[in-house]
Amino acid sequence: MSNGAILVLAGPSGAGKSTIINEASSEIGEFYFSVSTTTRAPREGEIDGVHYNFVSKEEFEQDIKEGNFLEYATVHGNYYGTSLKPVIKALNEGKLVIFDIDVQGHRLVRDAMGDVVVSAFITPPTLKELETRLKNRCSDSPEVIKQRLKNAKEEIQAISEFDFVIINDDVQKATAEFISIAKAARNKIGLQKRKELIRKWLEE
Ligand code: 5GP
Repeated sequence: MSNGAILVLAGPSGAGKSTIINEASSEIGEFYFSVSTTTRAPREGEIDGVHYNFVSKEEFEQDIKEGNFLEYATVHGNYYGTSLKPVIKALNEGKLVIFDIDVQGHRLVRDAMGDVVVSAFITPPTLKELETRLKNRCSDSPEVIKQRLKNAKEEIQAISEFDFVIINDDVQKATAEFISIAKAARNKIGLQKRKELIRKWLEE
C-alpha cells in the first residue's frame, strides 16, 4: 500500500487553478502535478510536456485502446486524459499527486482510486467575473469563450460532489485555503490503512 495521496482540482478554465498551484508550490511539500494529454491545440506560451502532452486524435485513441488512461473525457470538443503509469509511480513514491481535471474526470478518478482522493472545486465568485477573466486572458476566441462559459454553467452544478470549494476572489486567500487542503490531503488515511491499523492493534 502506497503512502501517496491524490488531490483533484476542478473548476472552470479561467478559475485560476494553475496560478494557485504555482503560488502554493513551495508550501505543500513534494508533489507530482499530473500532466494531462490532450488533442486541443497549444495556446501561446504552452509547452509540450510541461502544460500538456499535445497529441493527435489518432494517438489519443490509440492510448485509449491500449488502456493507458486512468481517466479521460471530452471537454469543449477535445479529448483530455490522465496517463495511468506516472500517477501510480508517484503514488508509490509517497507523493501527493495533483490533478487539474474536469468534473467528469473527478468522478472517474473517485471511482478508480476511491478513498485516497481529496477534491476541491475552484471557481471565480460569479459567471460575470469568469467572463471578464477569460476576455482579459486574450488567449481564446469569442466562440471558444462562449463555449467555456456554457461549460462552466454545467460544471458549477457538480460542486456538491467535491470535498471543498475555493472561491477565488482573492488569489492570496484562495492559495492559503488550497495549502491547508493539500496538507490535509496528505494526512488522509485510506480504508486499507485503517484496516491494517485495526489488525495491528488487535494482534498485540
Ligand atoms: P483547458 O483547455 O482550459 O486547458 O482545459 C479545459 C478543461 O479540461 C479544464 O476544466 C481542465 O481541468 C480539463 N482537463 C485538463 N486535463 C484533463 C484531464 O486529463 N482529464 C479531464 N477529465 N479533464 C481535464
